[in-house]
Amino acid sequence: LFQNSFVVNSAAMRVRFGAGVRHSVGDEMEALGLSRALVLTTPQQAETGREFVRLLGRNAVGLFDKATMHTPVAISEEATAEAIRLAADCVVSIGGGSTTGLGKAIALRTDLPQIVVPTTYAGSEATGILGQTEHGRKTTITTPKVQPEVILYDPELVQGLPVGMTVTSALNAMAHAAEGLYAQNRSPVSGLMALEGLRAFRNALPAVVANPSDLAARGETLYGAWLCGSVLGSVGMALHHKLCHTLGGSFDLPHAETHAVILPHAIAYNEVAVPDLLRPVAEIFGTESAGAALYAFGRDMGAPTALRDLGLAEADLDRAAELATQNPYWNPRPVERLAIRAMLQAAWAGDAP
Ligand code: NAD
Repeated sequence: LFQNSFVVNSAAMRVRFGAGVRHSVGDEMEALGLSRALVLTTPQQAETGREFVRLLGRNAVGLFDKATMHTPVAISEEATAEAIRLAADCVVSIGGGSTTGLGKAIALRTDLPQIVVPTTYAGSEATGILGQTEHGRKTTITTPKVQPEVILYDPELVQGLPVGMTVTSALNAMAHAAEGLYAQNRSPVSGLMALEGLRAFRNALPAVVANPSDLAARGETLYGAWLCGSVLGSVGMALHHKLCHTLGGSFDLPHAETHAVILPHAIAYNEVAVPDLLRPVAEIFGTESAGAALYAFGRDMGAPTALRDLGLAEADLDRAAELATQNPYWNPRPVERLAIRAMLQAAWAGDAP
């Protein structure tokens, strides 16, 4: 290993874990010299946002509750204007990737610090990546400007995440770790974090599915989410993420569910090329192959396994394969249209990889 040179990318951020840690949000602000938070949520989580406004008392200047999937630029501009009008000196983002995305979009435009309180496992809080949409097009920016400063992982806030979303969100997180294992710019440290993240979900997700309010298990899944998100933030992604972006962007398939279905197939596709790098995944799950392990794990947790159940028509598979192989990008195994078409057929039908 040490014959090769490597780079470890990591961001300066403060991360706290623990039941009830959300009550420290005001202390965290004060430690940074901040006193005027604009609280952000989706419309669905507005009530949670109001609780935070009450919790923050004089440290909150308002609530903006219109965070939307895929960060539409128009909403980001409206929220930024609101932050400026209220003279906010930071944002407190409470929610999943959509709300974190809005906080990042405001930070991009204003440089306001972000405190994030995640309520899903998507992992956006651990990255300096912002995806935005305008005129139906999604673009991605990577810059330290959007990297959140403080993350508060409070398992009490994910206790209410419905089981179906819990499972797909967990598989979404696990996909960051699995692809990180063969990233071109991986390091020994990103590898440790990826395997530890997968192990956390493998240990804790079955307990959460059995008892969604199990605080210890929820806490371990948040630990997994942070590890997997950190991998996403520090190394490049490949085939799996490209396929999910194609299916989400061009066919409007739901984000986390698409990750859940594609993950075992993309990993099985690449396992042929990099068996040594993926063997630890099979070992964590106690099976022969990483692709098969992830398929069985998802199925046992009740995750969707077929693209057809997410609303993709079989007639769209040719175009999906074409789009996914159009702009060449790095992947450990060459991305060949016929092989990808066959893989998509299996994922569409819900077959094991
Ligand atoms: P989301 O944030 O869109 O949340 C989905 C819905 O679930 C929302 O209505 C939300 O309010 C609700 N919700 C969230 N937590 C809940 C809880 N605990 N209980 C009840 N309801 C809850 O979904 P997501 O999967 O977290 O995020 C997906 C988005 O994040 C996508 O746009 C994706 O591109 C982006 N993302 C970005 C990065 C990055 O690094 N930039 C990383 C991962 C995901």
